[in-house]
Amino acid sequence: MIGVIANGVEHSTIVEFFELFKTPWEFWRPGSRYDVLLCSNSTVPENDARLLLLYGSQQQAFERCRGIKTQSVRGHQFLSFRGERMPIYGSCLLFNSPGNEVVIHERTKSAAAVSVASEDHMVVRLGFDLFQEVRYLLTQGQPAEFASIPTLDLHISLLRELIVRCEVPLVEILPMPTGYRFIVCLTHDVDHPRVRYHMCDHTMFGFLYRALIGSVIDFCRGRRSLRQVVTNWKAAFSLPLVFAGLAKDFWNQLDRYLALEKGLASTFFVIPTKGDAGVDSEGRTKRKRASRYALTDIADDLKKLLSANREISVHGIDAWRDSAKGCDEREHIQEITGAAETGIRMHWLYFDSQAPSTLEKAGFSYDSTVGYNEAIGYRAGTAQVFKHPNVDRLLELPLHIMDTALFYPSYMNLSEDEARTAMLSLIKNVTRFGGVLTINWHDRSLGPERLWADAYVTLLGDLRAQTPWFATASQTVSWFRRRRTASFVRIAHDGNSVRVRTATDPAAADLPALTLRVYNSASSSHKLGSKENALFEDFTIDGSDEVLIAA
Ligand SMILES: [Zn+2]
Repeated sequence: MIGVIANGVEHSTIVEFFELFKTPWEFWRPGSRYDVLLCSNSTVPENDARLLLLYGSQQQAFERCRGIKTQSVRGHQFLSFRGERMPIYGSCLLFNSPGNEVVIHERTKSAAAVSVASEDHMVVRLGFDLFQEVRYLLTQGQPAEFASIPTLDLHISLLRELIVRCEVPLVEILPMPTGYRFIVCLTHDVDHPRVRYHMCDHTMFGFLYRALIGSVIDFCRGRRSLRQVVTNWKAAFSLPLVFAGLAKDFWNQLDRYLALEKGLASTFFVIPTKGDAGVDSEGRTKRKRASRYALTDIADDLKKLLSANREISVHGIDAWRDSAKGCDEREHIQEITGAAETGIRMHWLYFDSQAPSTLEKAGFSYDSTVGYNEAIGYRAGTAQVFKHPNVDRLLELPLHIMDTALFYPSYMNLSEDEARTAMLSLIKNVTRFGGVLTINWHDRSLGPERLWADAYVTLLGDLRAQTPWFATASQTVSWFRRRRTASFVRIAHDGNSVRVRTATDPAAADLPALTLRVYNSASSSHKLGSKENALFEDFTIDGSDEVLIAA
């Protein structure tokens, strides 16, 4: 059991942190015994914890008593542990204590964390503010230049490693479903379901330029094959026939998506109203943002999606800033799906700090907007579903990979090979840390002039090779919700055992089970594995099981 002492302002962040690092913990209570005592910028009470963790970027008694010289650094700093780079966004305290380094400050090579061990006791002093970092990640988010680093998942990994390395018993409910290494959420924003709705608008002229001229430039740069140039030219010259209804609309790629994703789950975010551009955070209207299709225009597509068991969610226009409008947007889509619960992703990823509570008020059960337009990776520093501050129920399914971010010249501008390498690095992270990889491949991206089908097929192959659980957005959120309802109860009479309780929810009956991992377990009868040099044993928690763990 971890005891945590921190300033009251950090409490809500701490509660959320321990939903992501799901392990028994409580706020420190006088007189209680803890294996691990975690102090965040606070004085250390009398204790007999085997591991004492002192986080904080301000000077503390630890270094003063030992005469350790310190230096404070500000701004974005890179730390390294196990050779892994981790950015710190607040201030950081460095320690001059040769031989005791645990975490290294990359630029100065000084220690950003040091440890001092005695016979049965270890103190680790970390010179940064863990929960302020976590709050920054979950609210502000990382700048796009550091998008590729799963910073929050690294903070969890560092804390876990410190505990396990100290041979303190640890139990944890893993952020991956039993039987899978991680979750994949395939999603599609439905922005342009047909090219024929764009006669003589900016989208059509943009298409013509990119198909006729852009593809030739790309061919000269080695980014397009001759076959692709021909396909795009053919598509461009077929436009009059498409507008006349005499040729196939090459932006209607739904059947192809359903064929490529046969046997998998996916979620389609559909814009509820035609011609409404909404307003941005400065109150401006950008006409280009308005959708050119109405739900009645794509009624057949929607039927097809429902009969193929796909999830249809809201691709919102104004829901992020106006809960009454959000309510309307939700109801429009629920009239079609009949689903009791609906999620949302904002068109153009419009969002601000008030958006989570506005969306919750509008009755959405999840949002999947937190990501980057210009990069792929981890805006909130994590691959886990999380809860924003100031909401009760709404969960955030972070968005990690978007096709337009990878390939647009004004964004990452990658070749297909470079894009694959960038995505493989995210797949590698999610196999290590668990969580979900959320992917957005736009509706028209398989057709001309984008022709990003090969990249998508390769991505699906790379994902399938790792045997993840392919789930819809709502299934993913429900699974994380189930994990969040699990609770640990310390058994009073012996003080060393914990009971794990999960809520019985019939709606969650089809979801994969939770896995409880017990590190340094004395009983090593089955499934004994090794991770980061620690021994562990895994138990499956299903339904309303109560598992008693000697920890
Ligand atoms: Zn959109």
